[in-house]
Amino acid sequence: MRRNPASTVANLPHTEFPSPLYSGKSIKQTDPSSLKPEQTIRSAVECKGVGLHSGAPVTLRILPARAGSGIVFRRTDLDGFEVEAIGRNVARVSYATSLMKKGVLISTTEHLLSAFIGVGIDNAIVELDNLELPILDGSARPFVDLIRSAGVRAQKRPRTYLRILRDVELREGDKFIGVYPAESYSVSYSINFPHPLIGREKFAVNLSEGNYFGDIAPARTFGSREDEQKMRNMGLIRGASRDNCVVLTKDGIENPPLRFSDEFVRHKVLDLIGDLALLGKQILGSVVADRAGHAMHTALVSRLLRDSSLWEETTLEEELITVGARATAAAALR
Ligand SMILES: [Zn+2]
Repeated sequence: MRRNPASTVANLPHTEFPSPLYSGKSIKQTDPSSLKPEQTIRSAVECKGVGLHSGAPVTLRILPARAGSGIVFRRTDLDGFEVEAIGRNVARVSYATSLMKKGVLISTTEHLLSAFIGVGIDNAIVELDNLELPILDGSARPFVDLIRSAGVRAQKRPRTYLRILRDVELREGDKFIGVYPAESYSVSYSINFPHPLIGREKFAVNLSEGNYFGDIAPARTFGSREDEQKMRNMGLIRGASRDNCVVLTKDGIENPPLRFSDEFVRHKVLDLIGDLALLGKQILGSVVADRAGHAMHTALVSRLLRDSSLWEETTLEEELITVGARATAAAALR
């Protein structure tokens, strides 16, 4: 006897993913425990450092958070005021990405948010006792190490991804960023920086293949000695030192060795991943950027959040399940 699809849906422990197609054999495949779960960290971890731009000393503490809560920053120096790491709270974006809510600032969020995507952390509370995250060594590696030292815990809720459905392209002069439908998250970035060590660099990476740790996380931020005074006059890079960024001179670098010969473009990929984390979900799509920066990255976030016809929310195995359910339904009709 055929089972009534409606009643089998009602029997599912989770009712978030029912589809009219679910029936018979597909029930096993819709078991939410077979879907990729959201993750948080196992225990609280802490580090100290200075903000790259403010130079302000800061203690950062990462705490586990409940499923579905996302990444939330908390200013312990301002009565625990919370600012969610989502596109709506993006504020000033120039040499770093900052969030602001009701006048409360969280500055330079991109390296930690990038590390969260790289490790696969969906939910965490990030406490800060100052306005800017610590720059540490200028890369995401210390954050990755910190998160790994805390341990990763799977949660009882399937992770939803933001699957890109249509091409989205933004241009501004010679800067470009686009995102295209794909079954995994990949990034291809090009830069063209007038420096003998850089010039035109391009780096492409598929993040679904575990390449983040070795290829992206260690790449450090960089700046030139030439621009230093101009940036300091703008109130920037007050915490910069040879220990937390690659310092470019006219024809070389002050603090060799580089970690990769193309460390610069890899760092741009790191930044992009951190900025796109402000979508609040991991992407299934292929991102292409050329000479973009934080402003273009976050413009793409805004564009996507403004138009929900450009994407759909999905669990990683949902398509397989739908295909399975269709096959079952077709067999039942024969
Ligand atoms: Zn950066």
